[in-house]
Amino acid sequence: MPKRVAARLFLTAALIFAIHPAGAQTAAPASAGAIAPALMQDLVVANRVLTDLNVIDGFGHVSMRHPTDPNRYLMGRSLAPALVTADDILEYDLDSNPVDAKGRASFLERFIHGEIYKARPDVKAIVHTHSAGIIPFSVSSAPLRPVFHLGAFLAPDVPVFEIRDAAGVSNMLVSTPQIGKALAAKLGDRNVALMRGHGSVVVAATIPMVVFRAHYSNVNAQLQSQALALGGPVNYMQSDESEKTLAVIDQIHGRAWDLWKRAVLEKMAPK
Ligand SMILES: [Zn+2]
Repeated sequence: MPKRVAARLFLTAALIFAIHPAGAQTAAPASAGAIAPALMQDLVVANRVLTDLNVIDGFGHVSMRHPTDPNRYLMGRSLAPALVTADDILEYDLDSNPVDAKGRASFLERFIHGEIYKARPDVKAIVHTHSAGIIPFSVSSAPLRPVFHLGAFLAPDVPVFEIRDAAGVSNMLVSTPQIGKALAAKLGDRNVALMRGHGSVVVAATIPMVVFRAHYSNVNAQLQSQALALGGPVNYMQSDESEKTLAVIDQIHGRAWDLWKRAVLEKMAPK
């Protein structure tokens, strides 16, 4: 080997070692920095709003992408969402490694979030629910479809993730990056995906919109179940009606968020 090439190889190896000293691969990722208090408050409030709306309970989670670093996201530690405060919010890289957990446990299913953020640059907020209304549509042959205007975001369709396809016989949890990646692939470019016998994932570009969609997925599912139970054909929204309705929802969904947020902040205020 010519001397100059050998010297260059040595320098490259030395540089790689300097950047990645032995064992550094397992070190915690660096923080992307603190986020604005108002955004942090919205993330905390979203956890409590969704609990108040019976979309999540002791289980389920809400996350948001870091506003200045798309390779980080923020989510509560393993804790019932209604108990989350700003101090419980952890930062993760997109492989779902916590930045500085300080010994606090993470959700087993955090890979849902990391893998969807990897696959969907447009997504800035994610909710994972086990909401009761949507479960029947994850285990039956009836597809979840928009039956009223506030469910228009369910168009054109809602895919159902079958965990058996990704993991065989499992404990039903999205507990590995590989299962999370399969779920993200099933979601594709949609707003909502159901998880067979488990729940749903809901995505959006903002916290208020992801809360809106998580809630109205559940409401739409309840209404659709009732309509189907009445018998006869159901008159679903047409795809062009959904498109027109979505433009209005974009304009007005903040009104619902303001109401839900105010109720939560009143409850959180020191008495
Ligand atoms: Zn779950």
